[in-house]
Amino acid sequence: MYKKVKQYAQNIGLAVDERAGLAYGLINGYFVLIQQRPNTSAGHSVYLWAKPGNIQPVPATLDYLNQCSSRFEYLQSTSYNGAKITAEFQGLGFQWGKKYVPCLDGFLKEITGYCQNNGLMPCCESCGTEYGLNLYQVDGVSHMFCSGCYDKVSGQIQQNTARKKQQGSGNVIGGIIGALLGSLLGAAAWILIYQAGYISALGGLLMVICTMKGYELLGGRLNALGITVTCIISVAMLFVAEYLCLGLEIYKIYNENTRVLSVSIFDALEDVPLLLTDPEAAGAVFRDMAIGLVLMIVGAFSTVKQTYKSNTGSVRTRMVAPVTKGGQIL
Ligand SMILES: [Zn+2]
Repeated sequence: MYKKVKQYAQNIGLAVDERAGLAYGLINGYFVLIQQRPNTSAGHSVYLWAKPGNIQPVPATLDYLNQCSSRFEYLQSTSYNGAKITAEFQGLGFQWGKKYVPCLDGFLKEITGYCQNNGLMPCCESCGTEYGLNLYQVDGVSHMFCSGCYDKVSGQIQQNTARKKQQGSGNVIGGIIGALLGSLLGAAAWILIYQAGYISALGGLLMVICTMKGYELLGGRLNALGITVTCIISVAMLFVAEYLCLGLEIYKIYNENTRVLSVSIFDALEDVPLLLTDPEAAGAVFRDMAIGLVLMIVGAFSTVKQTYKSNTGSVRTRMVAPVTKGGQIL
């Protein structure tokens, strides 16, 4: 979480969950959440869950939020659906570092003051009840639910996971054919990168991605079996591609200084094992392959993780903090 926002949150008594990038607690008696946007220090989403009281209907609150957008420099956009106010902040331009937190602070005080003056009521974003509310995270998105609505949502997620498990491994044969075709593309990429004289890290990554996409396209579902198959094919294809690269090198060297073609590409490929008996050449090849493999694993890891997650439907849900007990704000 951005240091200055974290400090500010702690100063006004909000709880900070550093790992999840959350700061939450009460301001003017309203539960407010500040969520760090990933990949940028100067981006935060502010949430406040409340339904219209007896005085202000939804359009009036929308009007009010629009006014706020023009008054607060770093407030980029706002929305309100009758249960959840969302305000997106982004620090931009000259000296934002100095003015960002005061801007955030000004808005938080105003919006909670507005809620107070107009009698907005904290509520579950799904059913609107004021009782037994908790702050939850479902796959990285924050929600204010009562426990009943949370049970419904997490039940649906569990059903999804179960359904995906039941679908089994998809079409494994199709998947393997697809993976082989994909790996050919990967091998071509490896050879092209090699010809351009670059280290093969990127090639390793492309190989894994091509192979996995191929597996998926022709009907295989990337579960543990699919991932194992694609990894084996990727590694094997890496060796094939490197072998072809060496053959090409030999072909080029043999034919560099002769006008008449003296060695065919097939002869050159046959000579690759001979080349590898030379310790210097073998060392260079070994180094190339090691770098390629290591970066393939590093690069593939996140792809595998992501693919596996989206294919098994395993979504992380958790309760972050209780917000009301009965109808009382905690
Ligand atoms: Zn509810």
